[in-house]
Amino acid sequence: MWPLLTVIWFAIAASVYFYFRKRLRESDAKHANELSSLREQHRGVVEKIEAQQKTLLNSMAEGLLVLDERGAIQVTNRALEEFFDFTGSLNGKSVLEAFRLHELAAVIEQLEIEPQVLEHEIEVPGLRSRWLQLNAATIRGERGERLGAVLVFHDVTRIKALEETRREFVANVSHELRTPLSMIKGFSETLLTGAMHDPDVSTRFLQGIDKHAVRLARLIDDLLTISQLESGRVILNLHTVNIRGIVDAVFEDLRERAVAQQMHLKNEIDSSVVLSADPDRIKQVFWNLIENAIKYGKPNGQVTVSAKPSGEDLVEVEVRDDGRGIPADALPRIFERFYRVDKARSREAGGTGLGLAIVKHIVQSHGGKVRAESTMGAGTAFFFTLFHDTALQP
Ligand code: ADP
Repeated sequence: MWPLLTVIWFAIAASVYFYFRKRLRESDAKHANELSSLREQHRGVVEKIEAQQKTLLNSMAEGLLVLDERGAIQVTNRALEEFFDFTGSLNGKSVLEAFRLHELAAVIEQLEIEPQVLEHEIEVPGLRSRWLQLNAATIRGERGERLGAVLVFHDVTRIKALEETRREFVANVSHELRTPLSMIKGFSETLLTGAMHDPDVSTRFLQGIDKHAVRLARLIDDLLTISQLESGRVILNLHTVNIRGIVDAVFEDLRERAVAQQMHLKNEIDSSVVLSADPDRIKQVFWNLIENAIKYGKPNGQVTVSAKPSGEDLVEVEVRDDGRGIPADALPRIFERFYRVDKARSREAGGTGLGLAIVKHIVQSHGGKVRAESTMGAGTAFFFTLFHDTALQP
């Protein structure tokens, strides 16, 4: 009897043991599965956050640099790599090692004394040197301990270049205004100190005053035109324009000056050539180019204006003279504001140094291009393209 009971008891105990062991294993496996799925989910979330952060940092226009408490680089973004022309990883390097810019290392040293350094400008040397404006701040923990630093770089190269252009422009304008003004002042002072009683001298001086006043007025007109054109707010009043007629009108305006130089003006444009253009603006283009051709042409010389088709949609206009020409090294610069080959001659002839810059702006605002060719001693030809009247019609 007893052995049978023992066997039954043992069998019950064994099946209970095996039952629980099985359950325990099943539960372990379930937990392991759950844990691995949680790990997987966590990795997914971390990867997603990292990808979002990377995209965010790389889409910033500003360069970003984060350093750890030892000054080693932790985070950079694409803009920063572009600013400094970097390709490899910078992580772990020191700022001096990575950038080789003592000025930048000095800013980081300054952060040990001050909590932030604002609007510090540095020049990054290179093929295309850049100007960067830098804002830097120390990162501190809750107990005030230093955890690192964050530096944000703005590219201010274009702003610097614009500032420089503006400074040069103001200097040029002041100089151009001062010259005729001091002439007018000189003439009037001489007249007031007695010369006005001599009819010959006073006539000559008054003519001088008049000439320089005309030059001043022209300079102001040209300055207003150029500032309007450069502001990009010019509204073109497009019409169908017969350019032969416009050239005839400009020849008429300038006839007296051409006669004084015994110059022959020749209009070779066919009366059938019609363009889509703002008539007043295009008249100014012709006026400036033809006036220059007379001014810098040779006595007894010739100014010829012609036009021919260029491709399907364009007409190329040419204004040619047989004057002294423009040196090859000056040719690429003549469309710049205030650039002159012979300053004295230009001023003597009443030039403002803005005529060709105005021509370039007007032609470009019509979608055209302008260029010049010249042979020293043989003459100069200015070319510009404009759209044929039918080209712009739907
Ligand atoms: P400016 O008022 O001095 O004539 P422009 O802008 O019209 O100013 O021309 C710039 C410079 O280009 C002139 O000063 C002159 O040196 C040169 N230039 C322009 N047109 C001619 C030309 N047809 N022949 C020779 N030089 C020219």
